[in-house]
Amino acid sequence: MIHFLSKDDHIFKFSPEASPALTINPGSSVRLEVMDCFSNQIQKPEDRMEEVDWDKINPATGPVYISGAEKGDVLKVTVEEIKISDQAVMLTGKDLGVLGHKLEGLHSKILPVRDGKVFFDDRTAFNADPMIGVIGVAPEGQEINCGTPDVHGGNMDTTLIKEKAVVYLPVWVEGGLLAAGDLHAVMGDGEICVSGAEVSGEVQLNVALVKDLNLSTPLVENEQVLAVIYSHEDLDEAVTRSVEIMEELIGKRTELSTAETAMLLSAGGRVSISQVVDPLKTARCEIPRWVLNNYGFSLY
Ligand code: CA
Ligand code: ZN
Repeated sequence: MIHFLSKDDHIFKFSPEASPALTINPGSSVRLEVMDCFSNQIQKPEDRMEEVDWDKINPATGPVYISGAEKGDVLKVTVEEIKISDQAVMLTGKDLGVLGHKLEGLHSKILPVRDGKVFFDDRTAFNADPMIGVIGVAPEGQEINCGTPDVHGGNMDTTLIKEKAVVYLPVWVEGGLLAAGDLHAVMGDGEICVSGAEVSGEVQLNVALVKDLNLSTPLVENEQVLAVIYSHEDLDEAVTRSVEIMEELIGKRTELSTAETAMLLSAGGRVSISQVVDPLKTARCEIPRWVLNNYGFSLY
């Protein structure tokens, strides 16, 4: 059986106090209907940006309580499917994104999505490559709005989080309180203008529970790589911490010394920037799974 939550069950902040919209057992799948990051307020080129209600930004469908999840555990969330609607929207403007200081007013663009393509204009169509911008659990202590990423996940805007990816989210409060939203039909690393091709749709997630894994920040894994995701106000610090946490993960699970791990990461790993436009910036440190396998690495 696959559980379902409609877009009406959504949050704008990840909060330890939130009441669950649904409770599921570990190992189950849940299908979430999600609005785009503007709560579907921009549908036509004529829709006026000035009338957008900015309190309704980054809705995430949930929260889902996972029975038995406790602090120190990890939710192993497999992205089984991402279905996107037939048009996406982009937005930028004054003080938004990397070029915001060069812009005046607000600018938006509707991008039709059809036959697996996202049409930017009559010259450029990108292959659709749907991803999840916001996925996370409730933090410990203070609530965190859905626009901000941190060690609870949230607005990580990480292009690796797409179909077949596995996201490992550390649990901070009982039940985890998982929610997701902010789908992108396509997005480039960095999210330069402050938005991807924002789109509504549905995501199906399988949620397993790994007891006592004690991760300090989210990880994402796909067929090729394992990545540590870390967010910080300062991008240098985000990069450094993502690498340090990767080294700690490897050091605890293999015979490799710190020097060997440093060289291995330098030879075959990769540091990438997920986004530089949210309140905290997000970097990730990736290493190919085949390399880890050579040293008998197993996450749990
Ligand atoms: Ca986002
Ligand atoms: Zn987004």
